[in-house]
Amino acid sequence: MRVAVDRRLCCGAGMCALIAPEVFDQCEEGLVVLLAPGPPATLHAAVREAADQCPCSAITLHPAG
Ligand code: SF4
Repeated sequence: MRVAVDRRLCCGAGMCALIAPEVFDQCEEGLVVLLAPGPPATLHAAVREAADQCPCSAITLHPAG
């Protein structure tokens, strides 16, 4: 899995950092910071949940490779 974030779409809701703090953080302005663009399989469920919960559809998931 590859994770991508579009900070132009991010509205700083912070759901991603709450749900998957190993993968997402927030900068001082509240915008998403991607910590792990290629997260391990153990985190995939949380990453999918974060992408689903993001109110701005700023998180997209792509097949690895
Ligand atoms: S959940 Fe979406 S809008 Fe909120 S901080 Fe994360 S990427 Fe940004």
